[in-house]
Amino acid sequence: MRRILPVLLAILLVFSGCGMQNTDKKDDDKLKITATIFPQYDFLREITKGAQNIELKLLIPAGKEVHGFETALSDISAVSESDLFVYTGSEDDNWVNDIPENGNKRLALCEIIKDYKDEHVWTSLRNAVVIVESLCNTLCEIDKTNAQLYKDNTALYIEKLNSLDKEFEAVINKSDTKALVFAERFPFLNFAKDYGLNYYSAFEGCSTETEAGIKTINFLIEKVKEENIPAIFTIEFSDGTVAETISRETGAEILQFHSCHNVTEEEFQNGETYLSLMTKNLYNLKTALLSNATGE
Ligand SMILES: [Zn+2]
Repeated sequence: MRRILPVLLAILLVFSGCGMQNTDKKDDDKLKITATIFPQYDFLREITKGAQNIELKLLIPAGKEVHGFETALSDISAVSESDLFVYTGSEDDNWVNDIPENGNKRLALCEIIKDYKDEHVWTSLRNAVVIVESLCNTLCEIDKTNAQLYKDNTALYIEKLNSLDKEFEAVINKSDTKALVFAERFPFLNFAKDYGLNYYSAFEGCSTETEAGIKTINFLIEKVKEENIPAIFTIEFSDGTVAETISRETGAEILQFHSCHNVTEEEFQNGETYLSLMTKNLYNLKTALLSNATGE
């Protein structure tokens, strides 16, 4: 998210100090929680499932590209009014530092996970477990009435995350190839590290580049042919042009690997979750890694 103008911020803070907000924390007993992007939103949704007093807000709405998202004044006031605010802690989140602490609790995923490869810490299921535990502990501190519910939800959810992690491990262990081709950006360093996967990608991390050079495309085409890779990946919110070029040249199938940065409005309506998207990733990974294996 882009830094907002300090002047605008100052104006907003003056207004909020004058009681311009239409919701006042003291006037209702809802626990207000705000999450910047989908992964932390979904984790919080799982932990607080069944709690009646929760008002959970996803700051960057479904369907929006999270990189380069313009922070609105209403976003700043949502942060100020929240009892708990959870953000990633990447460069995109620098705007948060301009908002004075008002006694609310703020958690950054990149502070919970100390040893990370890039800011997409949630792409690792193992990191997700640590994040969810930490969010649960904080929620139990600030809302003791529901602490048992949060703990029970968390225990069940972590069991599911762990079992999906084991399934990924089993698929990857079974495969002779450990290389994935992303005709795309590659925000999966933390995921790849968990399983010792290699990758070839059109762009690094979450590069803003969208047009891959001929050299890069040719390199990826060669890799697909050399390693006899049956499927290549795109990520969500992609136009897929690089993938189409590579697929035309190699016959490789195009599959999606969802980074969970955000979901489309339709996915949101359909109730997609981090877990459901990662489960689809597992299915597609199986196709990419195991469809050439003997006996498959
Ligand atoms: Zn990113």
